Amino acid sequence: MSEAPIAPAPRRIAYLDHNATSPLRPAARAAFLEALEGGGNASSVHADGRAARARLERARGQVAALLDADPRGVTFTSGATEAASAILHPDLEIAGRPVTCDVLLVSAVEHPCVLSGHRFPTDKVELIPVDGEGVIDLKALENRLAALAAMGLRPYLSLMAANNETGVLQPVAEASDLVHAVGGVVHCDAVQAAGRVNVSLAALKADFVTLSAHKMGGPQGAGALVAHPDSRARVPLMAGGGQERGRRGGTQNVPAMVGFGAAAADAGTRLEAEAMRLTGLRRRLETGIVERLQDAWVAGAGAVRLPNTTCAVFPGLKAETLVIALDLAHVRVSAGSACSSGKVGSSHVLAAMAAASGLAPEATSGAVRFSLGWSSGEEDVDLALAALCRAVPRLSSRPARVA
Ligand code: PLP
Repeated sequence: MSEAPIAPAPRRIAYLDHNATSPLRPAARAAFLEALEGGGNASSVHADGRAARARLERARGQVAALLDADPRGVTFTSGATEAASAILHPDLEIAGRPVTCDVLLVSAVEHPCVLSGHRFPTDKVELIPVDGEGVIDLKALENRLAALAAMGLRPYLSLMAANNETGVLQPVAEASDLVHAVGGVVHCDAVQAAGRVNVSLAALKADFVTLSAHKMGGPQGAGALVAHPDSRARVPLMAGGGQERGRRGGTQNVPAMVGFGAAAADAGTRLEAEAMRLTGLRRRLETGIVERLQDAWVAGAGAVRLPNTTCAVFPGLKAETLVIALDLAHVRVSAGSACSSGKVGSSHVLAAMAAASGLAPEATSGAVRFSLGWSSGEEDVDLALAALCRAVPRLSSRPARVA
């Protein structure tokens, strides 16, 4: 009798691209599937509708809890891009009071969903620079706020909690204090920070916070705007059947929101332990890179960063080429900002940091982002380091140092 062939063991994939999208957490998957099976329209009055509504409201509570916020202030959307577009409008209601903003101030390193997704006239938008580590220049912000106040203009600041390319954390609370002192409004894109470091609506001191489910291990196509229950844009992005307290029309995607809620709860419960574990893994990765690969450096290394993100620069290399070489070695990473449909453009984030450091923009063209998450372990980091030590010298004809 001939022996059955032994199937080769599946190769481990080092998925180090959690900032692009984090794999679905098991708890989110289970909750999503249960809600999918359950069906029902959350606006229907019959039993199935009421069950869907109950699931949706539980998820709303879970998302609110992650930011220590009132669930009535959570508006579910199709993602953070929609949530940012919904709220970055000049005409607002803040805690029930009408407010109109004259100028939108954005940091130079905001995500494109803010930079091009806002609903202000383009000539009313101003960039606030960052320093060489990618941190907003609070002095420049303060000066601009004073100038706007002297002209009787009300500012609206959009400042992210953590950058998607470098992981650099922004001083959102300090910036919010400055903006509120002159009667302005603050939006914080907390997409990359929520579920990875402690963020709350109160600690950020922001009026509006936007979130995305898939960056914390929830389903794609789900997000939220979090605010005081009586705050909103006076011009909704999506009008319709009055869902989400009239703030976002359209039948809610109950399974996606339920998966989002479960991911938020899971990430929130494990937050501190995971942050410590990921900081250790990140250190292992960064030490390996700078010790073994000549000239490599980490962008934003001098700033406080997310525990999971490393933006490593390999001078003289093209990031896309290195990403492909790593992919062939079963290591999944991104070049610069690859959030948008596989597009690898030059990074406006690294360009802003380079400009502040007096570096030429090309100095950061070999930047590759490694972003770890709940599914990452030491094996993934070691696989990535081994692949880098093979690929970088080959692509740049520079020797790797012997470890
Ligand atoms: N904000 C940041 C910082 C991001 O990294 C992303 C990622 O794409 C978004 C917003 C957009 O999120 P979404 O995919 O939910 O629209």
